[in-house]
Amino acid sequence: MNDILIIGTVALDTIETPFGKVEKTLGGSATYASFAASFFSNPALISVVGDDFPKNYIDLLKKRNVDIDGLKITGKTFHWDGFYEYDMNEAKTRKTELNSLEQFKVEMPERYKNTKYVFLANIDPEQQLETLRQMNKPDFAVLDTMNFWITSKRDSLMEVIKKVDVLLLNDGEARQLFKTASLVKAANEALRTGPKAVIIKKGEHGALLFTKNKHFSAPSYPLENIKDPTGCGDCFGGAFIGYLAKTKDLSEPNFRKAIIYGSVVASHNAEDFGLNRLKHLTMNDIEKRYKEFQDIREF
Ligand code: AMP
Repeated sequence: MNDILIIGTVALDTIETPFGKVEKTLGGSATYASFAASFFSNPALISVVGDDFPKNYIDLLKKRNVDIDGLKITGKTFHWDGFYEYDMNEAKTRKTELNSLEQFKVEMPERYKNTKYVFLANIDPEQQLETLRQMNKPDFAVLDTMNFWITSKRDSLMEVIKKVDVLLLNDGEARQLFKTASLVKAANEALRTGPKAVIIKKGEHGALLFTKNKHFSAPSYPLENIKDPTGCGDCFGGAFIGYLAKTKDLSEPNFRKAIIYGSVVASHNAEDFGLNRLKHLTMNDIEKRYKEFQDIREF
């Protein structure tokens, strides 16, 4: 039985970093998020790919026990082409080819509708809203987005924000969405809109959790070899909700642990291109780095 539903993109990514280039490799927000969540829980995925999508990528998702009955196949796969300079906190987009994503109508298998935990990973906010509409009141919803949708669909995005429990943003997106230089102001503004918690991801500098009365600052991991940060935000979100679904504890202290698990999986993900690192990641690797994180913040 699935315990998390993830809607987002399943993509072919062309990525260039100072350490190499890959063309049309497996990517997408739902792919990274469901890979990361699968270490803790049983995610099901809703998305669309085209007839050009390689079968071995489908096999890879199945191998990680991701339920892909909600993956439609039609037209041409969404393609993102981006690059990073030495400041790898910021992805620069060369091309976003929505392809089959543009006409994608969310339709979910009947058995998905009662899933308790939902991750609205980065995709068109109208498709995120439609997912919530089709579900029978999930217990817990987490939302992620990016600059592309903040620019093109701000009103719909604000509608989704009102309906979720946790909002994830990176620092640049938080400033852009709430039109302020202050992350604290942005977080407070978001909290007034609806969510009980806002998490601001700061790439290699850690993450901040804001709730009504509390503030937690998660440390960053001193990663020596970063090759490709693509998907780190999605891994963070997937592991975060994956851990919460596993422990069934939605308290603020448990959010803190979930944030560290999110940071652990995201930091591993950056060590290699695409999903190459996650493909071989084990729960032992995750627990080992979780302990290192505990050590980093002890004083
Ligand atoms: P992240 O690095 O975690 O922010 O996400 C990277 C992933 O987002 C890549 O694998 C892309 O395929 C995907 N992506 C890029 N642009 C978009 C977009 N406009 N909507 C949804 N997903 C996207």
